[in-house]
Amino acid sequence: MENKMQLYNTLTRKTETFVPHTDGKVSMYTCGPTVYHFAHIGNLRSYIMEDVLEKSLRYLGYDVTRVMNITDVGHLSSDGDTGEDKMLKGAQREHKTVMEIAKYYTDAFFADCAKLNIKTPDQVVPATQCIPDFIAAVEKLLEKGYAYIAGENVYFDTSKLQDYYVFSSQSEKELLVGVRDDVEEDVNKRNKSDFVLWFTKSKFENQELKWESPWGVGYPGWHIECSCIAIGRLGEYLDLHCGGVDNIFPHHTNEIAQSEAYLGHPWCGHWFHVQHLNDKSGKMSKSKGDFLTVSLLQEKGYNPLVYRMFCLQSHYRKPLEFSYEVLDNVNAAYTKLLKRISELKEEGQPDPAVMEEYQGKFQDALCSDLNTSMAITVVYDLLRAETNDSTKLELIRSFDQVLSLGLTDGVPKETSSVDAQLEAYVLQKIQERAQAKKEKDYAKADAIRSELLEKGIALEDTREGVKWKLLG
Ligand code: AMP
Ligand code: ZN
Repeated sequence: MENKMQLYNTLTRKTETFVPHTDGKVSMYTCGPTVYHFAHIGNLRSYIMEDVLEKSLRYLGYDVTRVMNITDVGHLSSDGDTGEDKMLKGAQREHKTVMEIAKYYTDAFFADCAKLNIKTPDQVVPATQCIPDFIAAVEKLLEKGYAYIAGENVYFDTSKLQDYYVFSSQSEKELLVGVRDDVEEDVNKRNKSDFVLWFTKSKFENQELKWESPWGVGYPGWHIECSCIAIGRLGEYLDLHCGGVDNIFPHHTNEIAQSEAYLGHPWCGHWFHVQHLNDKSGKMSKSKGDFLTVSLLQEKGYNPLVYRMFCLQSHYRKPLEFSYEVLDNVNAAYTKLLKRISELKEEGQPDPAVMEEYQGKFQDALCSDLNTSMAITVVYDLLRAETNDSTKLELIRSFDQVLSLGLTDGVPKETSSVDAQLEAYVLQKIQERAQAKKEKDYAKADAIRSELLEKGIALEDTREGVKWKLLG
């Protein structure tokens, strides 16, 4: 099969031809959500772009098998081995068990994905269902001398590797070692960059989920789950591994360390990372609590696919700033586009020459490091092209297998746009109030709420963050 997909590879820091291990087949692994809270629209930016990548590969004719884990154990709030367990934090916040929290937020995640036309991967694997595999992998790493037991935890020994910081340039490597200096000291670690494979005795004594292991009752570290699930489901050679850029270090760095130590050979050839969605105050993050969700956008009257289009209009390797002003513009463009498409009539026979020409243009856009905004431009060019409506409709249907924007579904109902100026004002106030609360200035936080109330705007603190509505 002709390999024409040019795709940036974080590992080589180059845009290069994507070449799978077996011709025509692609094994693809995606780091799934940590299910202790709703996914915010930043998380979903990553999943939208990974969905487009999977669908592009299928469009090009590859036979793709895609696996995603669900992190329902082991992810600590620091991404390293410090801080609270995120799942436990979620359970305490909502006075539920960890498994109840996991089920609730896993279902919520897939409900959001469905609204955004994100296809469910071929296999979805919760980490808690694979504990024996993790234990077996840790045993093998100990046997091979890549792991050690200290303080009754099992650690990966990064000094056993020639190159642990695989994703970084030489100067960055020096910096990274330095960065870890201010990380909470774990006296059990032989090297600062070592990480936990299995926790037993630790400060997480009230951990709810624990399993028997050769090293005592405990639970797995976060990184081992992705290595084991990927190798277990997709084999020894992985073609493509995806995640958001925050996963590069330490999560993906540690995944490579463990997997290659375990397998004894290079593991994954191509690493795809999506840059972050930011709001005006910086990176959107679940732990901050006040984040934007798809349901919140819907409540404000936006069709979720408008957010998908918002994401597709910018390149996955560029940070993207969220604003309602831009979303409103995308909303207007989306409605207009769907209206134009809905006016096309099934008339005449599709013209094979035009079909080939535009399919080629569309594929070229996808093959240029997943240039989704260029792919959307091809749709606009096609609408202006000198050809019959049937050709246009046939092509748009085929492009929508990748774009998944509901292009031929007719004009959506949820298209009302909120008053952008009012929206910007209220969001500014919500941010000021969050900042005041963070600084424990509750008088100021209350004053902001009252100021808005006087203007007929009510704030509500919900599990999904702060919501607002106009009264009366
Ligand atoms: P988590 O549920 O925190 O494990 O994250 C799920 C996915 O979302 C991971 O691939 C993260 O890298 C990604 N992610 C986290 N924050 C953002 C953000 N602000 N923008 C885009 N992707 C993100
Ligand atoms: Zn992962």
